[in-house]
Amino acid sequence: MPLNCSKCQSRRYPQYSESDKGTLWLCNTCQNYTDSEDVIIREQTEQERADIRTKAEEFERTSNFPSEKLSRRKGVN
Ligand SMILES: [Zn+2]
Repeated sequence: MPLNCSKCQSRRYPQYSESDKGTLWLCNTCQNYTDSEDVIIREQTEQERADIRTKAEEFERTSNFPSEKLSRRKGVN
């Protein structure tokens, strides 16, 4: 498994790709995909970059609890 990029040594992340019919390994630094043999399949597209950004923003929105729930009320004991 190409866990690290052979160019920049960054960690690669497995991404399931519908159009490529399988899992490819993405390097966020080089922005390209390799297969399980560490052969570069293609560059990451603008659309894919935008999708990942959208998902990250969504995750941040849904994983942030409202601040009032985190601050404890005093004198309730
Ligand atoms: Zn790389």
